Amino acid sequence: MIETFDLVVIGSGSAAQAVASRCRKAGWTVAMIDKRPFGGTCALRGCDPKKVLVDAAAAVDAARLLAGKGVRPDGLAIDWPTLIRFKRTFTDPVPEHLTAKWARDGIVTFQTTARFVDPAHIEVGGTLLHATRAMVIAAGARPMDLAIEGHEHVITSDRFLDLPSLPPSLTLVGGGYISFEFAHVAARAGAKVTILHRDDRPLAEFDAGLVERLVSRTRALGVDVRLNADVRTIQPVDGRYRVMADGPGGSIVLDADVVVHGAGRVPDLDTLALDAGGVRHSRDGVAVNAYLQSVSNPLVYAAGDCADTDGPALTPVAGYEGRIVASNLIEGNHVTAGYDAIPSVVYTLPPLAGVGLREDEARAQGVSFVSHHENSSNWQSSRRVGETFSGFNVLVEPASGRILGAHLLGPRADETINLFALAIHLGVSADRFKEILWAYPTLGSDTAYMVS
Ligand SMILES: Cc1cc2nc3c(=O)[nH]c(=O)nc-3n(C[C@H](O)[C@H](O)[C@H](O)COP(=O)(O)OP(=O)(O)OC[C@H]3O[C@@H](n4cnc5c(N)ncnc54)[C@H](O)[C@@H]3O)c2cc1C
Repeated sequence: MIETFDLVVIGSGSAAQAVASRCRKAGWTVAMIDKRPFGGTCALRGCDPKKVLVDAAAAVDAARLLAGKGVRPDGLAIDWPTLIRFKRTFTDPVPEHLTAKWARDGIVTFQTTARFVDPAHIEVGGTLLHATRAMVIAAGARPMDLAIEGHEHVITSDRFLDLPSLPPSLTLVGGGYISFEFAHVAARAGAKVTILHRDDRPLAEFDAGLVERLVSRTRALGVDVRLNADVRTIQPVDGRYRVMADGPGGSIVLDADVVVHGAGRVPDLDTLALDAGGVRHSRDGVAVNAYLQSVSNPLVYAAGDCADTDGPALTPVAGYEGRIVASNLIEGNHVTAGYDAIPSVVYTLPPLAGVGLREDEARAQGVSFVSHHENSSNWQSSRRVGETFSGFNVLVEPASGRILGAHLLGPRADETINLFALAIHLGVSADRFKEILWAYPTLGSDTAYMVS
């Protein structure tokens, strides 16, 4: 059987939704396919459920930081099973809510794996879908394969976010943002946590000095952060797992109840049979031109985590690329993507955030800059919440006064970074930024002191 649509979209996350809804509004017939429950990573297995756990950990942390400063946190604790049930009140309704909405909008959904059979047809569970105007690959990312003996014993972030009970001890393989976020939540909830990172530079996309400070903060919390620790094997031993790694001083042997994959994600393209569709791709994703159109099959576009673009694998970027694809489909190729001033956050406690150029990038690009950096842990905004690890590094171009990059570690850095994103996006100079009368006393009002 063959069904014909103007547009066939693979995936149902942020990128897919942005394309499908716009093209449908423009009058196109649209089919949307997902092999997993509808809604995508962010809403079901990523940002949103993660933030529910982080905010609970933050509530506990806030009281503990003020112990002896006027707050008695006695007996305050994370009730993990209840927290996971609360988290499910955010995730469980999503697929049904979305499918009902798409049915009302006239988008036809297929819950199965999509596979190219030729450059214009996709097979979904025995039915062939023929796309007359376009096919959009918005298939997201998955945890990368680990070249570790015993990798099958590692659980993914999906499983961590839905653990019915908190294991007494956890080892996280890899030192990216997912590991640090999970470590901060699990440690606040009472687990013994270890992070093993293979080189000396975890969180490589963030300001090096602030990462060092966050690593110190993480260790002060009781998390065992091991750098230059390359995991080799994972073996089950007496109902637990023995993790063996090569470390700077020799072999590391650690036992943990659960081992979690935090070693990065790769485009999820394996099930798509892209070669049959004439869609060129690599380990970095679907190869696209500036309009996010496949370089080898003009009927195909790609957006989000699975597209080989300069955009970081983040939800706002997936939505942005989805909107670009929709514009190019509806009006013809005319919009290209730009990836300046995209804020990025590690939701640790305190959070680490950055937007724009880092020092090493500015140097590599030969951009001249002045760095305004400081340890701000003695500022009122940190002291009044008991936070002893905070700081910033803001880069300003001397000739123009333009803010080139801002990097923050500290209370609510995840919110404050948006002020800098706005300033960089609009080209607001440091002098103009300082003139703004921010509400006081807020974290926003601190920013004026970070650019001078
Ligand atoms: C634990 C975690 C925390 C995160 N936290 C944040 C955060 O705080 N902020 C942030 O901005 N980003 C965060 N991210 C990243 C963010 O979730 C992704 O960048 C974003 O969801 C990507 O959206 P997408 O539309 O590209 O793909 P996805 O939302 O991943 O959607 C792709 C969909 O395609 C489906 N699919 C794949 N192959 C096929 C096939 N062959 N047939 C049918 N369907 C298929 C998949 O099942 C999936 O549902 C996090 C990710 C994780 C894992």
